[in-house]
Formats: sequence, structure tokens, C-alpha cells
Amino acid sequence: MSNRRKFTSVSPNYDCPKDFHNFHNIMISLFYKNYKPISQTSYNNLISSLRIHNLTCTCGMSGHMIKHAYYKRLVKYFCVETLLKILRVKCKHCGKTHALLPAQLIPYSQIPLDDTVAIINAWQGLEKNIYALKSYEEIMASNHLIDFSNVKYIIKQFKDHWLERLKTYVLDLDSELVINCFKYFGRQFMQIKRNPNILFFLNHIT
Ligand SMILES: [Zn+2]
Repeated sequence: MSNRRKFTSVSPNYDCPKDFHNFHNIMISLFYKNYKPISQTSYNNLISSLRIHNLTCTCGMSGHMIKHAYYKRLVKYFCVETLLKILRVKCKHCGKTHALLPAQLIPYSQIPLDDTVAIINAWQGLEKNIYALKSYEEIMASNHLIDFSNVKYIIKQFKDHWLERLKTYVLDLDSELVINCFKYFGRQFMQIKRNPNILFFLNHIT
């Protein structure tokens, strides 16, 4: 028995960029059960639980990752603007760098995945006249850093970039959404930029 953690990854198999391996900056989204609230402390704890050296790079090599640098990104979470210091790791074999993001975040978006999904769920509820978990007003009340212009922007991005994708593979806004988006599209749900993103599961070895 060991409480050490290991990674397994989801490899994109359909709609990922053909030049996947030519991207220099590739994200790694860390997927784990029982997400902690987004904070620098929870992020640091997540990173400290990783065996970074053993992460597998997109070049296929493992055992070559080192801590490289940090960058800051703003996240609007539960009424708090958090400037998260995100770690970038580098593969000593090929030189590629990878930002390590918790899978609660959407690359390049300040609004977390949960709120984004709730907004789209509310829009679908209105469009189809079906029950939605939260209304726009309830979402904005639970995170008052989200305003109606954010809501409109997210819905437009969804309609422009993701609506047809979800229809194509008959995907729902359910607990499998993140895993399915990495599986079919090689990126996080609602990620607009096409930079490759790899999903790693963080599991306990039992
Ligand atoms: Zn590499």
C-alpha cells in the first residue's frame, strides 16, 4: 500500500490540432476528485503532492520535467479576485514548457469552469424551456464578480465555438464533460484558443 500518487492521462483522439507536437507551450490540466476551493494555498498543496519529475511530456519522455517558472493569472472565484501563481514545468529532453492548471480552470478565462457551465446550463434552460440548476441572477449573486456582460460573452463563445461540438458527440453538461472534451477535442471545455491541453488524472495508488 502506498499513498503516493500517480498520473494517468487522456489522449486526444479526434479534433486536436494536427501540429500538436509543434506547440511549445502546452497546458497540463490536473483532474482530481474532491476539488478544494480555488486559492493559492490549495494550488500549492496540489503542486506539492505531484511528482513533477515523473510527469510525461508530449514528446513521450518521462523523468525529465523540472520546475521552470511561475506566471500569474487572475481568477474570479466566489466573489474574490485571486491572482494565482501558476507553475510552468519544462521538459529537459525537448525543451517544451507546460503550465500546470487545476481542471477547475479554463485556460485564458478568469471565470472558473463551474460558473461557466452554470451560465451555459441557464442559457440552455431558457432556450429549451427546461429546468436549469441556477438562473443568471443566482449565478451572479453567488459570484458577484460576474456581471451580465460576462454572461453574454460566455454564451456567445459557447454558441460560436462549442455548441456544435457538443452536438456532434452528443455530450451533455454532466460530470463526464471535462473528460469527454479532453478525449474528443484535446482541450478543456470552453477553451477557445487551440493550444493543446492534456488532462492528467491525479489518483491514489491503492
Ligand atoms: Zn519533452
